[in-house]
Amino acid sequence: MGGSSIHRIQVKTLKWMIFILSLIFILLFFSYPHADIEVTEWYNNAGGALSITFDDCDENQYLIAYPIMRKYGIRGSFGVVTSWVGKTVEQPENIFIKRMSWDEIRNLGDNEISSHSCNHKLLTELNEKDLLFEIQESKKIIEKETGKRCITMHYPFSRTDENIKNILKQSGYLCARTLESEINRDPDLYEVSSYAVFDDDHPSLAELNELLDLCIKERGWIVLMYHHIDENPQKYTTGTYLPLCVTPETFEEQMKLFSSKDIWIAPVGEVAIYLREKRECEIEIEKSFTKIKLFIKSDYNVPLTLKINLSWRRVRVKGSLNDGEYSGSFYLNVLPNREIVIYREFFG
Ligand SMILES: [Zn+2]
Repeated sequence: MGGSSIHRIQVKTLKWMIFILSLIFILLFFSYPHADIEVTEWYNNAGGALSITFDDCDENQYLIAYPIMRKYGIRGSFGVVTSWVGKTVEQPENIFIKRMSWDEIRNLGDNEISSHSCNHKLLTELNEKDLLFEIQESKKIIEKETGKRCITMHYPFSRTDENIKNILKQSGYLCARTLESEINRDPDLYEVSSYAVFDDDHPSLAELNELLDLCIKERGWIVLMYHHIDENPQKYTTGTYLPLCVTPETFEEQMKLFSSKDIWIAPVGEVAIYLREKRECEIEIEKSFTKIKLFIKSDYNVPLTLKINLSWRRVRVKGSLNDGEYSGSFYLNVLPNREIVIYREFFG
């Protein structure tokens, strides 16, 4: 009789233990973070992307355009023809233009320096040897002179083909710009389309405004192609063509318009890296009951924006570009190749 009573007590204790253990397990399970993490469409969760590009290294790009851009915190991509640097070079219609020097190109600071080839020849008509030279030598010279990686090509005359694209890929370029007058949506990075800015009225400020709004609506990427900035656009044409020149006043109006929009303005190469990382990057996530560690491995140092959805009510973030306290769903701007930690906040 005594034995059976002890047995009953043991069974009761066991049942209680199982109940408590299950409860602990359930509580732990629900406190273990559930996390959805993805790279957003554009940096800083902007509605679209915009790149300002220049061709042919006209010295006025440095003397006039660059200070205006800097005033609005806008960086662009400057396509350099390496054999033209520091010289006064003729362009069609017998017009002579002074080109930037290497010192001026270096002074462009954190703007992107793209290759616009060595000699501005039509790449689609070159033999293999000359083609390799135009693509690889220009990159080598730019990297040596600027000390920065050159990953973007502005095709001379905006012409390309599959062979040229393959050589670019093999030579370490990440992207290249053409002229298709289209908004880019999930583009082939070696055929990024752009719109030429021909003069103060083509496109007009109103047309640019409309184009940007459409781009934001479609969550696309617009690239603009500039050549000359000058008080006197007529200097750049004999009347056969539009001058490919805008006045400094109009250029400033345009920069003002761009910076008022919900659009991420960045050099072509930076946007291309963002698109690549969005498609390919792997986010390492290490979870525990009290924190989540994130790490993005990348060959580049371009910041990405993450959309984070957590089951935890409140968290504190360290190691991002916008550290702070967050709850529920939030956005983090993060640099790759460094650890970001999201701590669970139990109180408050
Ligand atoms: Zn050109």
